[in-house]
Amino acid sequence: MDFRLSPEEETLRKTVEEFVRERLIPLEPQFEDAPDIFEGSRWKSRARLSRDPVILRYIEIMENLEKQAEAQGLWHLDVPKEYGGMQVNLEKQAEAQGLWHLDVPKEYGGMQVSNVAMLAVTEELEKSAVPFEFGNHVSNILYNCKGDQIEKFLWPCIRGEKTSAFGLTEPASGADPSMLQTTAVPDGDHFFINGTKMFPTFADVADFVQLFARLPDTKGREGVTCFLIETGTPGYRVTRSIETIAGSEPCELVFEDCRVPRSQVLGEVGNGWALNQAWLGARRFQVGIRAHGMAQRVLRVVAQLLGGDSAEASKFVERIGYFLGELEALRTLSYFGAWKADQKMDVRSEAANVKLFGTELLHQIVDFALEIAGPAMLRKSHVLARYFRHARARRIIEGPSEIQRHIIQRALFREGVAGLELS
Ligand SMILES: Cc1cc2nc3c(=O)[nH]c(=O)nc-3n(C[C@H](O)[C@H](O)[C@H](O)COP(=O)(O)OP(=O)(O)OC[C@H]3O[C@@H](n4cnc5c(N)ncnc54)[C@H](O)[C@@H]3O)c2cc1C
Repeated sequence: MDFRLSPEEETLRKTVEEFVRERLIPLEPQFEDAPDIFEGSRWKSRARLSRDPVILRYIEIMENLEKQAEAQGLWHLDVPKEYGGMQVNLEKQAEAQGLWHLDVPKEYGGMQVSNVAMLAVTEELEKSAVPFEFGNHVSNILYNCKGDQIEKFLWPCIRGEKTSAFGLTEPASGADPSMLQTTAVPDGDHFFINGTKMFPTFADVADFVQLFARLPDTKGREGVTCFLIETGTPGYRVTRSIETIAGSEPCELVFEDCRVPRSQVLGEVGNGWALNQAWLGARRFQVGIRAHGMAQRVLRVVAQLLGGDSAEASKFVERIGYFLGELEALRTLSYFGAWKADQKMDVRSEAANVKLFGTELLHQIVDFALEIAGPAMLRKSHVLARYFRHARARRIIEGPSEIQRHIIQRALFREGVAGLELS
């Protein structure tokens, strides 16, 4: 097991470190009261419709940052080489730094930057509270696009011209998506889709949805198929959007005899289960390192709050020490999972562990910070109040904690644990 970065990856990490120090941290005071919509890379889909002068001012700041990032070769870090992604940028950087004649590691193989390197990039980015990401939001499963789908759906997302929503959860199937009931009935070269989806984030402003439905007479994980369905397709309606404490706005979607051509099936007919698992699994290690970064920023707020009062601070030394130890464990676990994913090993258990441990630990740390901050944090725009809202939502979104425990326990029974008898 070796989480060390390659020389090219280390160059990348240092460039990001510099970018964060020089470009993002100086902007932090301006982002203290920024609207929640600027979380994550999908802010554009909502913000681009806004006429609110406050939001427009933030858009200007963010777009300036994007130009600077692009100029420094820090764009689309996780996009495969054939779509102008990181491999190209890495090469430019290596050349500029005199690293051109070093062999590019084989594992890059023309594909995106490794999971471990992506984690190192995110760890650097998380040192700033400015919610900035390198690249437009491209759902990882869209790399399964084939033929015309590449021009129609994938390229526009990479270029930032289109955004997509992810439609898996339903009113009666959330924590366990294998219970999904939306149907896809074949009719010649088309399918008729019927059903309701709950919570696809930003579906009301997305250009299309990655929609999971099941073939007739199938149950569980069988027959699940993923469709790419454009907003405005007859029979597809966004019936409402829901303002949440998490900042993002999930929607309710209704499909009534929505006719979709077979050419808009992503991957293979009946193979959608693997796609939804791939979407969830790959993101989990990022969730861990983000929770780690946010928790560290929360602890910095705690340190400021306690700064002037050493007697008060001494009361909390033990708890803070414990939290720091746990955060280090979270960091190591995230890198371990990312490394295993890079080795193409089974990471279902590590992904669940990182999601569970990371989001629960973050929640405990924010809760502790609120205890220390007292009534000051009751101001809605207080940074701790904002972190609290986000931390609570993260324990539910993309699979609640209870489900992560089930996954871990299933893996335990499958593989067993040294020294623990399971009969
Ligand atoms: C802000 C936000 C954004 C979201 N974005 C998306 C999106 O883009 N696309 C999408 O498809 N979905 C999205 N979701 C849905 C999210 O993934 C689901 O809410 C989540 O998976 C839980 O499903 P559910 O709400 O139907 O909960 P349910 O399945 O009804 O479960 C409710 C609670 O019961 C408990 N529970 C359930 N099953 C078990 C069990 N077997 N054992 C023990 N306890 C259990 C859990 O605590 C769970 O939280 C989003 C949700 C939110 C809040």
